[in-house]
Parts: sequence; C-alpha cells; structure tokens
Amino acid sequence: MVYPVMSRRAGGLSVGVNLNLGQECNWACAYCEVEGLVRGTPSAIDLQQLERELDEVLSEAASGRWTVEADGERGGAAIKDISIAGDGEPTLAPQFAEAVEICARLRERHGLGDSAKLVTITNGSRLHVPAVEAGVRGLGGAGGELWFKLDGGDPAARERVNAVASPDNRVEANLVLAASACTTWVQCMALSMDGEEPSDDEIDGRVELIERACAAGARPAGVVIYGLARPSQQPQAHRLEPLSGPRLRSIAARFERLHLPLRVFE
Ligand code: SF4
Repeated sequence: MVYPVMSRRAGGLSVGVNLNLGQECNWACAYCEVEGLVRGTPSAIDLQQLERELDEVLSEAASGRWTVEADGERGGAAIKDISIAGDGEPTLAPQFAEAVEICARLRERHGLGDSAKLVTITNGSRLHVPAVEAGVRGLGGAGGELWFKLDGGDPAARERVNAVASPDNRVEANLVLAASACTTWVQCMALSMDGEEPSDDEIDGRVELIERACAAGARPAGVVIYGLARPSQQPQAHRLEPLSGPRLRSIAARFERLHLPLRVFE
C-alpha cells in the first residue's frame, strides 16, 4: 500500500500511497502504466495498516535506506513528496479523505512539514462528489497539491485518450472546485496516437477550457505538459508514440497566454 519510488515529477524520492489495491479506475487511459487495470471501485482499506506502513517507510527513509548520488557523494535520499496516487484513481477510494488525513498527520510527525509535499494525482472526474471535495479540502488545509488531468480539448479528444468523454462543463466545474479547495496543477498529457499528433485546435481547446475555469473563479497553480515517458500497459500501447521535445515545447507555448507557471516533462 506504501512504496518508495524515484519520481521525475517529484524530482527525487517520492513515497507513494496506493489506495487502489485491485487496480481500479473509472477511466481507461490509453497511456496508463497500471498493469491489470480494471474498471471499478476499490474496496475499503485497513487504515491502521496504512498508518503503520507509512510510518515504517518514512522512518526507513530518514535512516538513509534509499540513497542518491550528488556531487560524487552517495547519501540518504530526502523525501520530496508523499503522493496519493498508485494503481488507479485515488478519489474512488471510499476512505480517500481519511487517507489524506493520515498522510498529513504522519508527515508532520516525521518533521517533513517544510520539506516534503503532500500530493494527490487525480483524473479530476469526482471533485463534485462531496466526500471527495472534503478530502481535497483536507489536502489543501495541509498545504498539499492536487494534480488534475486534462488530456483533451473537447469530449471526443478526451474519449480517445481517457476512454471517457467527460463533458466540458463538468471538467470546468470540477477544476473550479479543485482549485478553490487546494493548490491545483493542471496536467496535460500530449502524445501521438495512430500516427496523429494533437492538433493546435485541440490544444487550444484545453487552453480555452482552463480560461473558462479561471473566469469562473479557478486560479490553478500552473500547467504541466508531459509526454509519454514510460510504456503504456494497455492494449492500445502499440498505437502510441511520444512526441518530440520541440513539439512538446511548441504545445506548451500555446498555454502561455494563460499567464500561469508552465512546466514541461519530455
Ligand atoms: S486516470 Fe490514471 S489510473 Fe486511471 S486509467 Fe488514467 S492514467 Fe490510469
């Protein structure tokens, strides 16, 4: 349920918290890295076990169990974040809000409040569910961050990549809810599918959706554009190709008119 991983997103050691022990998600993204992904809802987890496992991993990290090399010297890797992500959509978990509370409490108990962020990576589809919004407010109250997916500029583009045609008004409303509850980064996957790169119009659709959410009161922390870095574990894997660095950067440039911080992971 709790595992350490070197993460490019975190820029170092991330402690992952997996609430989806049966690989359950309500989406089926073509690029998903989860092996054995199933459509469904996770069962309840043992919260005491979660607390115990997280306590152990944080203690082991503090004792230098995982190391990195810097300036030719090998030393203990500092924890960059505690990330509620794992093998499926975490906000489907019936105890998502309780899990956030446990992660926030242990982060403080281990003296990581100033150095390790608390992060949740979500597809953003369930912010309108009161229990999920409450969990995200708890995350925001603990100074955490939410990473919210936006993989297409219109329902058809999102259906192609996420296998769910989320309506624009639902995505906008959920982004407004997310950004008002917690520091929220919009994360945009950009890839080639069946030899077709995202068109400028499709990308502009994403930019306009964020603009409309901002006009409705959202203030996202920024936008992350990221490419296909690790192989998909889904049947569509053979249809996907990463974009070139210059194309990813040209896509990122289309978001500049939002005047929000932009990050690109090639
Ligand atoms: S939302 Fe996340 S876990 Fe679900 S299918 Fe997409 S990438 Fe996989």
